[in-house]
Order: sequence, then structure tokens, then C-alpha cells
Amino acid sequence: MCGIVGYVGQQEAAPILLEGLKTLEYRGYDSAGVAVQRNGVIHMVKAQGMIRNLCEKTRDGADLHGTVGVGHTRWATHGAPNDTNAHPHLSNGEKFAIVQNGIFENYLELRELLTEKGYVFHSETDTEVVVNLLELYYNGDLKETVMKALARVQGSYAIAVMCADFPDRIFVARNGAPLILGIGAGENFCASDVTALVSHTKNVIYIDDAEFAEITARTITVYDSTGTPVQKPIARVTWDVEAAEKGGYDHFMLKEIMEQPRALKATIDPRVKDGHVFFEELKLTEEQLHGIHKIVITACGSAYYAGQAGRYVLEQLTRIPVETDLASEFRYRDPIVDEHTLMIIISQSGETADTIAAMKEAKAKGAHVLSIVNVVGSTISRLSDDVIYTWAGPEIAVATTKGYTTQVAVLYLFAVYLAEKLGRISGEEAGKLADDITLLPQQLQRAIDLNPKLEKLAEKYRDNPSLFFIGRNVDYAVCMEGSLKLKEISYLHSEAYAAGELKHGTIALIDEGRLVIALACYEPLFDKTMSNVKEVKARGARVLGVALEGNRAIYTEADDVIVIPRTNPLFNVPAEIVPLQLFAYYVAKANGCSIDKPKNLAKSVTVE
Ligand code: GLU
Repeated sequence: MCGIVGYVGQQEAAPILLEGLKTLEYRGYDSAGVAVQRNGVIHMVKAQGMIRNLCEKTRDGADLHGTVGVGHTRWATHGAPNDTNAHPHLSNGEKFAIVQNGIFENYLELRELLTEKGYVFHSETDTEVVVNLLELYYNGDLKETVMKALARVQGSYAIAVMCADFPDRIFVARNGAPLILGIGAGENFCASDVTALVSHTKNVIYIDDAEFAEITARTITVYDSTGTPVQKPIARVTWDVEAAEKGGYDHFMLKEIMEQPRALKATIDPRVKDGHVFFEELKLTEEQLHGIHKIVITACGSAYYAGQAGRYVLEQLTRIPVETDLASEFRYRDPIVDEHTLMIIISQSGETADTIAAMKEAKAKGAHVLSIVNVVGSTISRLSDDVIYTWAGPEIAVATTKGYTTQVAVLYLFAVYLAEKLGRISGEEAGKLADDITLLPQQLQRAIDLNPKLEKLAEKYRDNPSLFFIGRNVDYAVCMEGSLKLKEISYLHSEAYAAGELKHGTIALIDEGRLVIALACYEPLFDKTMSNVKEVKARGARVLGVALEGNRAIYTEADDVIVIPRTNPLFNVPAEIVPLQLFAYYVAKANGCSIDKPKNLAKSVTVE
């Protein structure tokens, strides 16, 4: 959930670590700290709150000397977010320093054991237990000590460790949380994410779960859990630093909303050739495809809503039943999946803990797991049987936009691909549908251009304490994502309701002036949705209608209208959600909210 950076080289480590931590801010955190070592002494500074507090405390790192160090941003899981619980943590004898991402599940048992041996604990964290475990096991051989401690801990974590007796190196390990190694010239790095590495190097090593590594200025050695060195390929990162910056917009979120036509194009175009959809990356055989009896889509948050949106198209084109389930629920209900189930896992970061757990559950039951992921080399991408990447580029704003629309686009492509492979649609039909999908980037741009007054609309409706999104069929799926967007960044309460369901209870909440955002882009049910709009209007609601370009009827019912360009009706979700993303953005802006980093949220939710 938080961030780790590490440096071993010739330069002063602290300023490099602080810069690295800043690039990881988007991951969400509540405190930060750095430790560097020199002449066998570990120096450490920590601060609650923003990284700038840590910069102030250390004069941007100038007060800390040493060319080896680790840095951390914490998102508290064990103990309050304060200076004491912030990382790094030192062992009682001050021989070891550690930073950790994730949770050590058996820390209480270990804490008891260490207390009996006379260790005292200053923080409430699980982390401090493990740094003392290292000291307890220490026998002068650092690698062996690390291995022994790793064998003893349980949980999902990434760590970076320094030892005062080995002033030229750090050890890192991962098991279920992200950690990447960066290879420089005469210096090496580690970080939770490539954004912290790209200004130094584009050459990285992705280490796997249960592996650990020893990093010096000139060498990186990766070991498996038995301590045997493993040869790891060096990957080349294609993102540059600029791609991770705001590009002139006020917020990353707005930049990312505007990037969507490009992100969609990058995701779609390479997969459409000669009028057919291709996924060269897929290992799924024809035989496996024909053996699919059921598709289960599992994800969390917006990725789950992307799955809801994709479900309509998958079912319609393939006629295979599709279930959607929240990852946090799926894993605990003894789900009925087997080798005839195609499990589609969706996660922007590829590190979502609940989703990883659901994936493991499905795999254990024999399902074929196909993941849709944005971050290359992420845990989900590496653990799934098949992965289709969304090529959205780094998404920094916590509230996803281009992550979501590219996930939906991949589901569209996959639906066409599967339907053609199964013979449910002809090659000609598939070609026509594929062409329609390639039009989405420009249609999405048009959705932005058609609605220049969204900022004014947001101003008008910004003070609604509670509102409703209603819609039918795929409009309902868009309602859920539109409502979540508004909640996430503007903190306004809203509910997404299937329009026909409203009168079964919730209509009691409709009163004078209540805002109802009515999505009526699914035209076969337009009249039905309009009946529901009339019902809420009769009870005093104000209605913001969302309808397709050229639809005049909406104007007779709605107080204001958002216009969506016409697409192939199967594929309207990306164009339909964009004005709602912008609406949420401008409401949050008008209300002075922290848009890119909403309160209580984190980008990559790596705890259950
Ligand atoms: N479990 C650790 C703590 O509460 C690390 C949390 C994290 O930042 O991932 O301090």
C-alpha cells in the first residue's frame, strides 16, 4: 500500500530517497521516513504526514550523510499513523533497520517470543517485530540471517533491510507486495514502482514472490527462498518521467481524463488487424476456448464496474453466461468454478490484495485465469495464466479514469475475439465490430467536446448532499461507476440505482430539489427510463439527463442535459462515462476537495 525506495551507490542517498518517495506519493500514505548508514552507524529520520515534513526535518536530505539508504511511505495497518510507528524501524541493538510494505500476519506470536528474550518494542507495528527477529537470528552472516527471518514470517509484504555491519549493501525481499530493482552505473536501486526509478535508470529486474535480493553498488543478486541465486532477465521500462507528470493540467485526474482517447487507441489499435481482433499474447488454446461453460469476472471498485459493463457485451456476443463478483466476496463463498470456467480478473495496478486472493482461489479450483492489468510485471500479471495489458500508461490520480475505460475496451475486444473463435458471429460481423471498437478513441474525444459546460453544471449542482444515478441495462453499469467517481473525489453521497428498481423502496428518498442523474443512452429502454424520470420529477426531483446526440425527447423531461456521441450501441460505455468523470472532477474542484489524493483512499490497495 505504501512505498519503498532503496539506494546503494556513490552519491548521498538521502536526497535520492526523498525524491523517490515523492514519486510514490500517489500510492497513498500517512507518514514517511528515511534511514542512511555511514561508518557502521544507521541514522534515521521519520515524520508523520506529508513527505515535505520529512524534507523540512532533514533539509531535503542534506543533514543525512551516507551512500546507502532506504526510504518509506507508510499506510498504517498496525498502529496509528504517527512518528513512532512510521518506518524505518531499528532493532534494539540498532544493528538493523527495516522498511516494510504490507502485513506480517504472525507478528503477535513473534512479538511474544521476542519479548520473552528481552526485546522491547517502541511502536505498535508488525514491522518492528521483524527487525528484532533479524537481530535475534544474526550470526554474522547477513544472507543467512535474512533467509532465516523470512522463513519465520507469514503474510504479504515487501521489505528492505540494512545492517550496520554491512555498510555497502541492502537486502530486499517480496512476498505478495510489489518491489522492483533498478540497475544503474555504479549504483543500484529498489522501489515499489518504476515511477521512482525512471529518472535514474530504465533497466529493471522484477523479482518474484518468495525471492530476495542482495544489492550493492555494483551487483544485484537475486535468490530463491533456499538461497540459491536465480538468473533474472533485465527488463527495459518504456515510461519516461514526463509520462508520470501532470502535463500542464491542474490535476493528474484531469490529465488522465483527457488522455483517454490516446490510452484507448494504444490499447485497441495493436489488437485489431485486417478486420479481426488478435491477442498475440494469449496462450488460451482453441480447445480451451471451446470448453468454456461460464465466465466469472472478479475485481474491486471501478475495475469491478468495468466488469459489469463488459458483461453485457460478452453475454450478448458469446452467449456464454457471465457472472460478476466482488473479489472480496468471491473468495469467501466457496465459489463454483472449475476447469470449464474462464476467470477474468481486472486490476489497474495488478497488486490489489483482494483480487489476488480471489485469483488464487479460482486457480486452485482449476479455472483458467485471464487478467486485465495496466502495470506490467505486477503480481496479478505474473500469476495469471494469461494477461492482456491495458496500455493506459501510469495512472497517478487515485480515482481511476483511463484505467477503467481501457479495461472496458479490452473486454469489448475480448468479447468479439471469443465470439468469432466460437463461431457465434461470422468473420464479417467480427470485422465490423472490431472496426466499431477502433472508433472509440475519437468518439470519446467527441464526448469531451460535446460538453463544454460541465464545469458550469458542476457549479450548479455541487451542493447536493445526496443524489441518485439511475439507468437501465448497460446504463446501469455506467451509473455505478459515475456514482463511485463522485463519491471518491467529491465526498458527496450518491447511489446508483437500476431505474426500474427505484420504486421498490428508494423512491421514498426523493424529495424537493433532490438531484437525479438519469442515464438514458440505451435507447431500446429509453421510454422505460423516461417513465422513471417522470416518477422522480413528480416528487420534486431535479433531473440531469444523459442521452445520445440527436435525442430530443430528453429535453422535455430533464432540467439539464449531457450529450453523448452515437457509437455502436454495444460499445457506448467509454464515451458515456467520460462526461460523468468530468462532472465528478469539477464538482470536487468547486468544493475544494483534494482531487488526486482523496481522503482515506489509496491507489493500490494491497491489504485485504
Ligand atoms: N504493516 C506496516 C505498518 O503498519 C506497514 C504498512 C504499510 O505501509 O504497508 O506499519
